[in-house]
Amino acid sequence: MRAVTFQAPGEVRLDERPDPDPVAPDDAVVRVEAAGVCGSDLHIFHGRHPVEPGFTIGHEFVGTVVAAGDGVERAAVGDRVTGSFVTACGDCWFCARRLFHHCTDQRIFGHGKISGDLPGAQADLLLVPRANMTLRQVPEGLSDDAALFAGDVMNTGVFGIASTPLGEGDTAVILGLGPVGLCAVQAARLAGAAQVLAIDSIAERLELAQRFGATPVHLEEDDPRAAIKAATEGRGADVCVEAVGTPQALDSAIRFTRREGHLAVLGVHGRRCEVHMGLLWNKSLHLSTGLANVLAHFDDTLELIAAGTLDPAPIVTHHMALEDAPEAYAAYDRREALKIVLTP
Ligand code: NAD
Ligand code: ZN
Repeated sequence: MRAVTFQAPGEVRLDERPDPDPVAPDDAVVRVEAAGVCGSDLHIFHGRHPVEPGFTIGHEFVGTVVAAGDGVERAAVGDRVTGSFVTACGDCWFCARRLFHHCTDQRIFGHGKISGDLPGAQADLLLVPRANMTLRQVPEGLSDDAALFAGDVMNTGVFGIASTPLGEGDTAVILGLGPVGLCAVQAARLAGAAQVLAIDSIAERLELAQRFGATPVHLEEDDPRAAIKAATEGRGADVCVEAVGTPQALDSAIRFTRREGHLAVLGVHGRRCEVHMGLLWNKSLHLSTGLANVLAHFDDTLELIAAGTLDPAPIVTHHMALEDAPEAYAAYDRREALKIVLTP
């Protein structure tokens, strides 16, 4: 089969790989029909998340089950499915408490040896372990573009907002309007936020945030701090979501949040980074962060997407063939594309 592999920072390539072999009774194999390119893939592309050269990447997928072990009950051969980007055992101390994102046997698709050595979804075929936990049937009539978001990006936005007390009448600030931030805009509106201020420096992304009900604020051309103050009688945001993953954005998010407010850090921080603890302390800020607990929110998120209550499909800007993955990564890196869907 063909597979997109990481080679070196800035270089991915289409390689031949052996077809996956289901071994465990709860393994399934999915023929991939759509695979997303994610902000997390960019961390790999840049070498910030270490992945072995030759490793198959990608973790967002929709496809059809072509093989399933005897123990797979969630889906049968021929079913159209999507999956969580992270797998969990369902049995350990953390899974028993529905903290699936901290499963002691956690494996993430397409993130190399340190993340469970599970080859990724930007390929013709995908081995899906723990299929009863990982897979969901795609509801009838739901497009690949929309379904693709249930197991990662929309789920992350929903998780970020759910980790805060955001409610009716509150003001939310979303920093970073990549797919994750744009999904957080939708989730914040759904949670009842009266105003959502959405910050980025890319015009197309600001426009989409506005379409989703946010007030766009340009990172450089506007004065985000002044805009947030003006919108909150000088207090700052009730809830701020950092959907970037840089020390600068984290620092801004701390400054934009009001006293006793809540900060959800969704951006991936793989390294030590300086935080102004004095500011956090003075403002008594509440912080939630970490990998999204996708499996805890999977069914709800998929249902909301299927009902059209959450609608991630407009975030897809490009469809490209699997063999064009090198160009897809380069275009995404240049911020010329928002969500790229690769079709094998
Ligand atoms: P992306 O790279 O497409 O988007 C990031 C956006 O942030 C860009 O539009 C960029 O212009 C903007 N930006 C950069 N600096 C900024 C600043 N200082 N202030 C405001 N905006 C700024 O990425 P994405 O796919 O939307 O993902 C966002 C982050 O979420 C990444 O770090 C990704 O790895 C992470 N992520 C986390 C989880 C999780 O489980 N927590 C899941 C998926 C993705
Ligand atoms: Zn992703």
